[in-house]
Amino acid sequence: MRCTVVGAGVSGLSCAARLLEEGHEVEVVSDRFSPDTVSDVAAAIWYPFLTAPAKRVEAWATVTYSELERLAREAPDSGVVMRDGREYLREVVELPSWKDDIALFRVLEAVEIPQGYVFGWEFRAPVIEMHRYMPWLRSKVESMGGSFRQAFVSDLSEVPGDIVINCVGLGARELCGDEEIRPSRGQVILLDQDPGIGHFDQQPESLTYTIPRSDVTVLGGTSQIGDWGLDIRAEDTEAILQKVEALWPDLDRSKIVGSAVGLRPSRTEVRLVAETISGRPVIHNYGHGGAGVTLSWGCADEVARLVAQS
Ligand SMILES: Cc1cc2nc3c(=O)[nH]c(=O)nc-3n(C[C@H](O)[C@H](O)[C@H](O)COP(=O)(O)OP(=O)(O)OC[C@H]3O[C@@H](n4cnc5c(N)ncnc54)[C@H](O)[C@@H]3O)c2cc1C
Repeated sequence: MRCTVVGAGVSGLSCAARLLEEGHEVEVVSDRFSPDTVSDVAAAIWYPFLTAPAKRVEAWATVTYSELERLAREAPDSGVVMRDGREYLREVVELPSWKDDIALFRVLEAVEIPQGYVFGWEFRAPVIEMHRYMPWLRSKVESMGGSFRQAFVSDLSEVPGDIVINCVGLGARELCGDEEIRPSRGQVILLDQDPGIGHFDQQPESLTYTIPRSDVTVLGGTSQIGDWGLDIRAEDTEAILQKVEALWPDLDRSKIVGSAVGLRPSRTEVRLVAETISGRPVIHNYGHGGAGVTLSWGCADEVARLVAQS
């Protein structure tokens, strides 16, 4: 089948790779490519966060965890590395349903929990170094015969191919007239200092994280819904530093080497569904919020199943 994937973020590239593996012909059409997509700004750690619906998300996340863990083991040039992190909470909550699906999960002892928090867990998860992973994914697609074309798509019915996979993220607001999708603005700081272990508070209202990569540590964050601003804001930088210092007092501000902003494609629920447009199947795969990397392979597998059924 001739498949056209619209969008070259992590969702589009993962779908392209899976469809090529299944023997389809694939062209990726996109107005922007790495390093100019939201996916390139992702921190990025595997963690089902700021996304829904819960049941489907858990299944997609579990599949993605296994695939990323395999890449960390078998393809070190992919930029995927397994790391340990600690999530801190201000109240005792039910343990996450995915705790048995990952390599390591344990509840923290009281002495391991910073001031201001009462509960938490340690977990092992893939860290995906996006500045390495995105080019790696693209070359994987190219090496299997996939092609790329730069174009802005204003009408899905005008795209060539037997079937279209719509992975445009926030672009769906314009392309599909989908008013449910809106930005969740995320600002991060890059720091040339290693915290050893990742520290997290992933409640949307207090969002804080330190994600150690092999080159820098990514500090965050913000989740400003409906905010389209791509400027780096001094007040956000200061707020992020103060939140991170509460979890990691050894942070050295003189080691800051950069900042970035990205707009998460936030939606009440991920839209992964097939529909017919102008007599041709279109599979939508967008709206992954703060977990597009975390869900990427699970969603790509589901897209491949829908293509096979169509
Ligand atoms: C600061 C920050 C930290 C994050 N941290 C994490 C994390 O730790 N873990 C995690 O899993 N996720 C994280 N995310 C979320 C993650 O980045 C997104 O969920 C993910 O990148 C979405 O990928 P996507 O491919 O669907 O969209 P995008 O990366 O936005 O790609 C969309 C593509 O579609 C193209 N496009 C759009 N409209 C059109 C059009 N009309 N015609 C042609 N092409 C079009 C764009 O050019 C682009 O290539 C983070 C995000 C931010 C901003």
